[in-house]
Amino acid sequence: MGRSSSSGSTTPPHDSVSRRARARVADPGPAAVRPAVGRVGRVVAGAAREVHAGVAGQGFGARPVSRAWSSVLGLLERFEAVELPLAVFLEMMGPIRPRFYSISSAPSANPRHVRLTVGLLEGPALSGDGQYRGTCSACIAALEPGDVVYGYVRVPSPTFAPPADPATPLILIGPGTGIAPLRGFLEERATQHANGTQVGLSQVFVGCRHPEHDYFYRQEMQDWEQAGIAQVHTAFSAVTGHPARFVQNAIAGAADTVWQAIQDGAYIYVCGDGRRMAPAVREALAAIYRQKTGSDDETAQQWPAQLETDERYQQDVFA
Ligand SMILES: Cc1cc2nc3c(=O)[nH]c(=O)nc-3n(C[C@H](O)[C@H](O)[C@H](O)COP(=O)(O)OP(=O)(O)OC[C@H]3O[C@@H](n4cnc5c(N)ncnc54)[C@H](O)[C@@H]3O)c2cc1C
Repeated sequence: MGRSSSSGSTTPPHDSVSRRARARVADPGPAAVRPAVGRVGRVVAGAAREVHAGVAGQGFGARPVSRAWSSVLGLLERFEAVELPLAVFLEMMGPIRPRFYSISSAPSANPRHVRLTVGLLEGPALSGDGQYRGTCSACIAALEPGDVVYGYVRVPSPTFAPPADPATPLILIGPGTGIAPLRGFLEERATQHANGTQVGLSQVFVGCRHPEHDYFYRQEMQDWEQAGIAQVHTAFSAVTGHPARFVQNAIAGAADTVWQAIQDGAYIYVCGDGRRMAPAVREALAAIYRQKTGSDDETAQQWPAQLETDERYQQDVFA
């Protein structure tokens, strides 16, 4: 399709798209592609508006293409008349960036086995067009037994690892897939316990919507509780009347237990959503400190930071 310029001459739209895209896509990956989408979206919108006006004699349709979360592919699917050379399209996509998944198993339990706990990202697309499925999580969800997956092991920096002494008590906070690495810690402790090693008690804070739907590792949590290595505190956001909606509420509800564990030298581990959950957990812990010590707000806020410096407060958070 040709695009009419204001001077009346006709230029191929992909030339404009190509130039603009090249200028925008300096750093490949979804975060960088999104701004490029805005540019391409405007170009495509311009072309589409003219097609639409030419055909129907009306303005552009009801939904603006500049809306956030539109993908280039989505725009091209929506405006079939717009052509974009494959090479330019691929250049805009850039290489697929690696996704990270925490190892959810303990090598001491099985040195030849790595378990992952992956949440499938799937739902109505924020662009308003159809369903959105996460690139990697959907790929993992489609795997069949025997399929080969390539990956590598990355040691996080700063490290996120349990203390060397198995007798050290732990406070493990991991709602949803945040339980991933913490399950590995618990499996390690369970193996040590089974081998006769004395292990410290873990206060485990898990959360999900409903215990019948998305409570990961529920049976294991109960087994570890019965074995005496863990005390599990739950938060269920979709269960009316449950004492805790989110893990931060469960922490507040177990303030005495949490404080005692900290007094006993517990190490605290937080994993999962870094945008809302992790700051809320930090705030809940600071509130306990304030309540137990009578300190002022500022001192209470600084206390988790001090624990962090001492490596007794470790976070593995993702958006
Ligand atoms: C250190 C670390 C450890 C991690 N550990 C785990 C783990 O153990 N388990 C786990 O499940 N995940 C874990 N993650 C997250 C994981 O790496 C991936 O980010 C996650 O699985 C999503 O990847 P994806 O390829 O499926 O989705 P992507 O294709 O990358 O999609 C995600 C992007 O889509 C956007 N998006 C979300 N919903 C929509 C929508 N409805 N419409 C349009 N856009 C949308 C998001 O804002 C985001 O930018 C970890 C991340 C880090 C950094």
